[in-house]
Amino acid sequence: MSKPNFSPETLMMSHGYTPAWSEGSIKPPVFLTSTFVFESAEKGKEFFDIQCGRKQATPSTGLIYSRMNNPDLQILEERLALWDKADGCASFESGMAAVSTVLLSECIPGDLILHSNPLYGATHFFIKHYLKNLGIESVGYWPDQTKEEIIDLVEATGVANRLRFVFVESPANPNNALYDIEVANAVRGHFALKYDVPTKLGVDNTYMGPLWSQPLKHGADYSIYSATKYIGGHSDLVAGAVCGTSHVIPKVRKLRSHLGSMANPWTCWMMLRSLETLKIRMEAQARNAEQIAHWLKDHPKVEKVYYLGLLKPGTNQHTIWAKQYDSPGAMMSFDIKGGESECFRFLNNLKLAKLAVSLGSTESLAEHPYSMTHAAIPDADKIKMNVTEKMIRFSVGLENPKDIIWDIGQALEAV
Ligand code: PLP
Repeated sequence: MSKPNFSPETLMMSHGYTPAWSEGSIKPPVFLTSTFVFESAEKGKEFFDIQCGRKQATPSTGLIYSRMNNPDLQILEERLALWDKADGCASFESGMAAVSTVLLSECIPGDLILHSNPLYGATHFFIKHYLKNLGIESVGYWPDQTKEEIIDLVEATGVANRLRFVFVESPANPNNALYDIEVANAVRGHFALKYDVPTKLGVDNTYMGPLWSQPLKHGADYSIYSATKYIGGHSDLVAGAVCGTSHVIPKVRKLRSHLGSMANPWTCWMMLRSLETLKIRMEAQARNAEQIAHWLKDHPKVEKVYYLGLLKPGTNQHTIWAKQYDSPGAMMSFDIKGGESECFRFLNNLKLAKLAVSLGSTESLAEHPYSMTHAAIPDADKIKMNVTEKMIRFSVGLENPKDIIWDIGQALEAV
């Protein structure tokens, strides 16, 4: 009988590692080493020729130095790439290291970035402040804009011929706004053709990936993660990852090895362990989220719930959801009747969920995006995105949903 193509969840326990490499150890050890001993000087020269791109890698290509590669890094990247059906993956010390390395590897002064709104606060600040200081301009678009309107917006910048990167965060943090990746791909295709520029498309897939969303199949070059979130999943590490096609990942790895922002062996090992339970964790969190969102939507102190399972069929947002995602996910936000003081009373009264930023962890986490994760975004922009002082972001964990509902209920009573 021929071997089937195993699913990613099956391969998380074995792919990319052979126990015989490590005395039969069923799990890969943590390779706490900075450097690797060469068999001979000739081998060392050959490995550097490969690293510098002068020679093609072969199956026997060895390792040089842990800033460039390490067995834990390699096994992790081979496993992560499976979910996105990517040609390759590069993992990082944080999600922001992943985001910044991708943008710095693609853009040079004079270039233009088109981005969705809202972006995670630090991504927004990196683009609007650090990249701007390097002479890289940016323009943001909104979920309800058509392809033609986005094209006009880019033309109006006067530097449409320098559009080098389209950065989409979908679902957007924290309001769950969805962006159509195929539309973003068509926009970059339009400019790539018109001005003969190699415009790339990257999607921040932190909210729904890698389980329920694979942006590469909709035309993206990059699927970018804060692996601190679902991939790590236990609030005990900070990491990032980028999955992509073969024409982008080597470039990102090269810049990463010069910036030195690769994930370290211990973090990689922790993520390998987390990946074994990724699917069951995310599925259980999504089941909990569904119950909580349906209970919340009828609560008298709650004005609106931003949860993808509540999108109305027939709307543009629902159409995008049905096309791009396999689940409503486990992230939601909700507006409490009132403003900052009501939200703060709610947060200060939670007994089970933790008042903390980050998301996608085993425990439920709640925060106030307006004054916390999205504090760096100008107030007017936040209001335009419905990120107001009455919004709470809630990352649903693995607790019994009845207990989470009890906790939210008693904290709302204190509002
Ligand atoms: N992208 C999104 C959507 C995020 O929510 C975050 C962090 O919260 C990041 C990127 C940055 O990731 P990290 O905190 O791992 O650097």
